[in-house]
Amino acid sequence: MPIKRTVEKTVLTGFVIVLALFGIVGVVSQRTIVGLVEDNQWVTHTHMVLELLQRVSFDVTQAEASVRGFVITGNDNFETQYDAAKDLIEPLLSDLRLQTSDNPAEQKSIAALESLIRERFAVMDQGIQTRKNGGLNAVLALRNNRGLVLSAQISTLIAQMRSQENRLLAERNLRARQSERRAFVVVLLAVFLAMIAVMGSVFLVFRDLTRRRQIERMKSEFVSVVSHELRTPLTSIHGSLTLLASGLLGPTTEKGTRMLEIAVTNTDRLIRLLNDILDVEKLDSGSMEIRRRLCNGGELIRNAADVMRPMAQKHGITLDVGESETAIWADPDRLAQCLTNLLSNAIKFSDAGGRVRVRAVPTAAELRFEVSDEGRGIPWSKQSSIFERFHQVDASDSRKKGGTGLGLAISRSIVQQHGGRIWVESELGKGSTFFFTVPFRKVEPTNGTQSNTNQSATTDSRRERNAETHPADR
Ligand code: ADP
Repeated sequence: MPIKRTVEKTVLTGFVIVLALFGIVGVVSQRTIVGLVEDNQWVTHTHMVLELLQRVSFDVTQAEASVRGFVITGNDNFETQYDAAKDLIEPLLSDLRLQTSDNPAEQKSIAALESLIRERFAVMDQGIQTRKNGGLNAVLALRNNRGLVLSAQISTLIAQMRSQENRLLAERNLRARQSERRAFVVVLLAVFLAMIAVMGSVFLVFRDLTRRRQIERMKSEFVSVVSHELRTPLTSIHGSLTLLASGLLGPTTEKGTRMLEIAVTNTDRLIRLLNDILDVEKLDSGSMEIRRRLCNGGELIRNAADVMRPMAQKHGITLDVGESETAIWADPDRLAQCLTNLLSNAIKFSDAGGRVRVRAVPTAAELRFEVSDEGRGIPWSKQSSIFERFHQVDASDSRKKGGTGLGLAISRSIVQQHGGRIWVESELGKGSTFFFTVPFRKVEPTNGTQSNTNQSATTDSRRERNAETHPADR
């Protein structure tokens, strides 16, 4: 199974496991937190019931004290205090009933408490009435201890209810503390899992990247070794075939000569392909050195034109070389490689009788090289992609015109290494002009090893130019 698929499978499995673990932790923590909230609510609720019981007990005691004060002094203020305490007791009792509605045992106790309190208040009402009608003596004459008995019963019942509530409170406090501990463990677990997930992802990505880099390196080493190993015997085969085809080693039949010529053309193409592959590999790995020195732009185009003149003559193309003496800081061999590639394309894709122009135009900050032809042109949709490796306008170009589809990709890398840009402007059926620039100032290359980002940056700038202004018009 390919390594990429294995890595993807491992990452996917890890992702599913982590997701499942997070799901479980999520459900457990949701339940734990709900439990924690509920337990705390129960603790608060118990505190509230305890407080209500306290207030009921206090109000009853307050009412009893007010009645005693009234009986002894006959002062109306005590009666007013009694009435206030009496008014308070009813809402307190109904609140208690409401708070304990979920607990039948407590409801029963509260019903008993209510009846005792009601009876206690009836006895106190009677005492007040007797004091009003017959004075203190009439009250003393009653000799009734029913009030004291009721008061004792109320106190006992409230004490029982309070101790019951305190027991509940202790239980609920314990539960709440356990829930807190559980919640803490769950949160800790979630944090731990998150850390494992992050560390695992970092590890997997790192391992994946390392493997990929290793494979890339092995691939390019393999391509490089194979190309080198093939080039040497191929060059010797090419030499022998050329010699045979020239007839210097003895006469051959006409058919034999034609076959030898085809073999020479094919080996020539193969050698060019190997050279291009080796160049691309060198540019990729950054091992292609750019040796800059001061050189003359005009001389560069004149030399390139001289190299390409035999090919132009063979194709019936007139070469038109512009005048220029502008100096630039560049690697002349590499720029010559770009220029000869552009000129060879211009010649290849022009019809006999056509004209190919090459010039070097200085602008404010750079020297702009231009190679234009009157050939078949390049459709708009392909004007960016032809700078990518093995991209051709027509799939048959390689066979018919003898190209490799690597020339423009190599040219782009070289231009980028000089800190310049390369682009094309073209009209179908009318011709194309390829431009590339070399800055006058010494600039760092836009990319040493031809990264994708820079590729697209150049492509984008080219698109802009194609869409907006012709550089020559600036
Ligand atoms: P090749 O070795 O195939 O010429 P290049 O990378 O130099 O590789 O060019 C890629 C393709 O771009 C060519 O195959 C051709 O389809 C197109 N092309 C390049 N230059 C021209 C031109 N001057 N006119 C028309 N098409 C061109």
